[in-house]
Amino acid sequence: MKRKVLLIYTGGTIGMEKDYETGSLQAFDFGNIFKKIPEMKLLECEVSVHPFKKPLDSSDMGPEEWKIIANYIGKNYHNFDGFLILHGTDTMSYTASALSFMLKNLGKPVILTGSQLPIGDLRTDAKENLLTSLNYASLYENGNAVIQEVAVYFEYKLLRGNRTLKYSAEYFDAYQTPNYPVLGQSGVHLNIQKDFLWRNTTSEPFHVDNHISQEVFFWRIFPGMHLNHFSEMPKVKVLILQVFGSGTIFNTQKTQTMLQNLRKQGTEIVVISQCVSGGITFGKYSNSNIFTKIGAISGRDITAESALTKAMHLLDNPKYEGTFAENFAKNLCGEVSVETHAEHY
Ligand code: ASP
Repeated sequence: MKRKVLLIYTGGTIGMEKDYETGSLQAFDFGNIFKKIPEMKLLECEVSVHPFKKPLDSSDMGPEEWKIIANYIGKNYHNFDGFLILHGTDTMSYTASALSFMLKNLGKPVILTGSQLPIGDLRTDAKENLLTSLNYASLYENGNAVIQEVAVYFEYKLLRGNRTLKYSAEYFDAYQTPNYPVLGQSGVHLNIQKDFLWRNTTSEPFHVDNHISQEVFFWRIFPGMHLNHFSEMPKVKVLILQVFGSGTIFNTQKTQTMLQNLRKQGTEIVVISQCVSGGITFGKYSNSNIFTKIGAISGRDITAESALTKAMHLLDNPKYEGTFAENFAKNLCGEVSVETHAEHY
């Protein structure tokens, strides 16, 4: 029996080719993908292509597009064995993270991929990324999907989507999950690290919860920052505050007052690290104690992309019981490590 994969093409470099007269990149009709890559017909799975009407540069992708994708997967969930989303690389980690929170209790693979060079380019990475992603999206064992989560496949590596970050605008090896092991590697064989795959523990069926609030703001502190900027910040419900190292910030009374004022006006403050590897440990340095004092939330080792989309998903979401802080602290779908770094010796 051939496994069925739904391929959703959203845009990005992967679906472009060079116009040899002008030298510019332009989107090609993705309906012609089987002509461009005839090898797709040799795959052991059956692929149905659903292109976005207007292919988007991924800098134009956001909550509306995430909802469209999530709802489309929801509508077609029972008709396909796996899902592949072709996406621009610039914001792929945001989309992968958002989808991981919106697609509840996944029992099938949802893989995202793209490429650094257009599919028509002689040296393109698109072909390998596309073909191997289709292999992972249709990988089943004893009737069950091997991958039951949102993953990114790029340059021979299968990665947990909500742990990824785009770390290179230059190299084919563009994505990393510094705080989580690689889920799989493709070489001569398609390798899978089974112990690291996400498995749902609830018996609830798959469903889509496409709640996304945009009352979230992101702020990266820097040495020499004018503290008055804190009070000039737009009034938001959640502030993702990206601080130094394992959770430190300027140790001044003014900082404390500014942050306390934000808390008083009802803003939730989620603290994440500027380091891409490791995470936040409140109390490790005295310059982090301010966060415990004001009741900020530790983002532990979450990525910026995941922290933002998790906050967007949880904020004012009627489907979650408990406070925002309680829900943010939970590991919902593998996006954050459960143990605190303080427990490491
Ligand atoms: N600007 C493109 C995008 O993210 C880059 C790419 O696809 O690699 O849509």
